[in-house]
Amino acid sequence: MYKGGASLSLQLLKKMSNKNLPDFRDTERAFRHLSDRDLSRGKLLFELLSRPWLVATGSFFARLALFIHLPIGWAIRPTVYAQFCGGEDVDESEETISLLYSSKVMTILDYSAEGMDAEKDLDITCSEVLKTVDAAANDPRHAFSVFKPSGLSSNSLLIKKKKDFSESDLAAWERVERRVRSICAATAEAGGRVLIDAEESWIQDNIDELAEDMMSDFNRETAVVFTTAQLYRHDRLAYVKELTRKANEAGFIAGVKLVRGAYMEKERERAEERGYNSPIHTDKKSTDLDFDHAVKFCLETLERVHLFCGSHNEESNMKLCEAMAEMGIANNDKRITFSQLLGMSDSITFNLADHGYNVAKYVPYGPIREAMPYLIRRAKENTSVAGQTSRELTLIREEIARRKS
Ligand SMILES: Cc1cc2nc3c(=O)[nH]c(=O)nc-3n(C[C@H](O)[C@H](O)[C@H](O)COP(=O)(O)OP(=O)(O)OC[C@H]3O[C@@H](n4cnc5c(N)ncnc54)[C@H](O)[C@@H]3O)c2cc1C
Repeated sequence: MYKGGASLSLQLLKKMSNKNLPDFRDTERAFRHLSDRDLSRGKLLFELLSRPWLVATGSFFARLALFIHLPIGWAIRPTVYAQFCGGEDVDESEETISLLYSSKVMTILDYSAEGMDAEKDLDITCSEVLKTVDAAANDPRHAFSVFKPSGLSSNSLLIKKKKDFSESDLAAWERVERRVRSICAATAEAGGRVLIDAEESWIQDNIDELAEDMMSDFNRETAVVFTTAQLYRHDRLAYVKELTRKANEAGFIAGVKLVRGAYMEKERERAEERGYNSPIHTDKKSTDLDFDHAVKFCLETLERVHLFCGSHNEESNMKLCEAMAEMGIANNDKRITFSQLLGMSDSITFNLADHGYNVAKYVPYGPIREAMPYLIRRAKENTSVAGQTSRELTLIREEIARRKS
């Protein structure tokens, strides 16, 4: 019996017992790729992450250690890094990629360096993303490549309205466009697909414009480039519909990654500080409703918009499975992909894979120092997203008990 923090509704439990749908409580399938040692590490880690004070203190010391260049790799590598990252580079991530694929789970290599602004660093990030495009070419173990636009542009440029660009901004923007285009073109050439992550609302307008240009150029036959819609924003459901209308009119296929959104606190704080209306829904229920609605809209318009569902929410994933079954859409329909992050929600990922759905893990990789901001965010999200840590912990404990029995 599932006893997670965010307990599942009776209705959902009933649906899960339908043998044609995946059972997200099947811990044997969820964790059979993990050794007893891996499971114990996961258990210890999620136990630590369930203590907000510890995460806050740990994050503070990790930042301090980074700032004063203390060597902390020895502590990070076998713990949070091993749980949430594939390796220091593409080659080192090979083991994770093969392990996932042995259970029919695909990989999305995610270069996890964040917060770079110098032109040289932006070029380095671009070449690193191109390496992932290259690694994915003709390799069925890879589902997509991915990049964060803020890894290819300075934040100060992304934040500006294009009408306010100076001469040097225009030149810098051309370089950003060139980087983004080079990744999308290489992906199309390799017969792959690429996701453009969504970020804070105050830099998202320029990202949306860029993503739409790329979709219009590269998504003529099929969706190669996918933009991201964060459904915690109250304008995004309308945006997904409008994007699809534009795609229909202009003759391209939209690709949309649907997520709830990762920057809620930051968004609300900034809106309050600067005295504008927060772009975020006032409650979780409204976010959930828009998320469900967007999924349904994409399913009903699949010939014009391909869907990537990025969520750790059991109910959302189950609703998508159910809707596909009701609409007679095959589990392995190429136009639909499910995804979770490495080290999280294996119960969803591996049970979906076992039922033949297209499912992929984001596999962040990069030098430990550069992955630290990502790891700190992971730790914080695990303590702040209601029920996430206790859900992970309950399932791991159940599997450990099952193996012992
Ligand atoms: C594969 C993948 C890719 C991702 N890519 C991106 C990306 O490009 N950009 C990005 O921003 N995020 C991204 N995320 C993170 C995502 O947006 C969520 O933060 C995270 O997945 C938690 O949402 P959930 O649907 O998994 O779970 P849930 O636990 O159901 O939802 C938690 C989320 O609900 C929303 N929420 C919580 N409380 C409230 C409230 N009171 N009012 C309104 N909304 C609320 C928040 O968005 C919160 O993160 C990605 C996640 C995955 C799995």
